[in-house]
Amino acid sequence: MSAGADEVIPLARPHVGEREEELVLEVLRSRRLSLGPKLPAFERSLEARLGVSQVSAVASGTAALHLCIRAAGVRAGDEVVTTPFSFVASANCLLYERATPVFCDIDRRTLNIDPQAAAAAVTQNTTGLLPVHIFGYPADMPAFERLAAQRGLWLVEDACEALGASHSDGKPVGARGNLATFGFYPNKQLSTGEGGAVISPDGQLKERIDSERNQGRAPDMGWLDHDRLGFNYRLSDLACALGLAQLERLDEMLAARARVAGLYNELLAGMDGLGLPCPDADGDRRSWFVYVVQLPPRVDRDAAIRELRARGIDSKPYLPAIHLLSFYRERFGHREGEFPVCEEVAARSLALPFFPELTEAQVERVVAALGQVLEAGQPTPQAL
Ligand SMILES: *Cc1c(COP(=O)(O)O)cnc(C)c1O
Repeated sequence: MSAGADEVIPLARPHVGEREEELVLEVLRSRRLSLGPKLPAFERSLEARLGVSQVSAVASGTAALHLCIRAAGVRAGDEVVTTPFSFVASANCLLYERATPVFCDIDRRTLNIDPQAAAAAVTQNTTGLLPVHIFGYPADMPAFERLAAQRGLWLVEDACEALGASHSDGKPVGARGNLATFGFYPNKQLSTGEGGAVISPDGQLKERIDSERNQGRAPDMGWLDHDRLGFNYRLSDLACALGLAQLERLDEMLAARARVAGLYNELLAGMDGLGLPCPDADGDRRSWFVYVVQLPPRVDRDAAIRELRARGIDSKPYLPAIHLLSFYRERFGHREGEFPVCEEVAARSLALPFFPELTEAQVERVVAALGQVLEAGQPTPQAL
C-alpha cells in the first residue's frame, strides 16, 4: 500500500499474501469447502504453536467463549466475575446461558481485571471467573488460578486479543491448562475472516466442544444421531486454509506489529498529558493487538476523532465500558460510578491506526495529526 498523504489511513488491515491465496485456492479446487482436511491441519498447527494438545477451531471468538462456559458447567442464575473493560462478547456469552456477569474494576496499569477486586466480587452465587487478556497484555492468571482454587470456581480465559503473548514463566497465553479462547476476526493478530479457537485442558472437554460445535453429534455416531444439544459453530475449510497460511508467518506479523508499536511509543513519548500503553513488566510479554492511547482528560474525544478524520486518519473510542452500554444499563440497572478506573479509562481511550503494514511515514502522519488536534483542543491560557 502506498503512503500517499491524501489517503485515509484505516484503523486495521489484515496482512494477506500469496500463501493465503494459494491455500484457499487449493480448498476451492478440492471442492471440500467444509469438514475437509484443512480443519484438523489448522488445529494441529495451532497446537504445535501453543504447545498444547487440544485445540478446536470454531466459527468465531464469541462461539468459542459460548462453548467454553458451557463446557465449564455454567448454569442459569450463576454469577460469573468478569471485567467491564472488554469487547462485549466476553459478557454476552454469559447471557446466552442465563448467567449473570458480575463486573469488577480494572488495574490502572494493565487495564486487565484487578485480582483483588475480583476476589471481593465473589459471592455464594459465584461459580466462575472469566478474565480477559485485554489489548494483548497478559492478565494475572496465577492470581485468578489461586482464587478459583480457593473458592471452587471454574475459570475461562478470553485470550481473543492475545495470540502470541506470554506469561512470566514463558508459557504462551492460553496454554496454562485452563479453558481458553482465541479470535480470528480481521483486526486480530491472525485472521481467518471470521473464526476462533478453543483450547481445552483435556480430551474429554475437547470432545464436548467438538460435538457442540457440530449440532451435538458424537464423533463415532452416524450423521443422524445426536446425544446432546449442539450448535453450528463450525469453521469452514476455506477459513482454516487462511488460518494455516497466516500461522506460517505469525512471528513475522507479530514482529511487524511490535515494530509499529515501538514507532508510536517513540514518537508519542513527549506528547503532553497523553497516556501510552503500559510497557511489559515482571516478565509478562504483550502481543500487540491495538494501539490505544489515553487522551488528556480535558480533550473532547469525539471532536478529536472528527478532527483526525478530517486529516485522513481513522480512530475509534475503544473500548466502551460494557456495564454502561444501553443493553446492560437497561437489563441490569448499571450506572456511572460503579467502576471508576474502568469508566475513566473507557472515556479517554482512543485507538489509533494499527496493523502490520503501517509504514513509518504513516505513523509519522498519525502522530503529527494527533499533535495538532491535541494542541488545538487545549484550553487557551485566558480560558483557564
Ligand atoms: C475479538 C474478541 C472476541 C471474539 O470476537 P468475534 O468477533 O466473535 O471473533 C472476544 N473477546 C474479545 C475481548 C475480543 O477482542
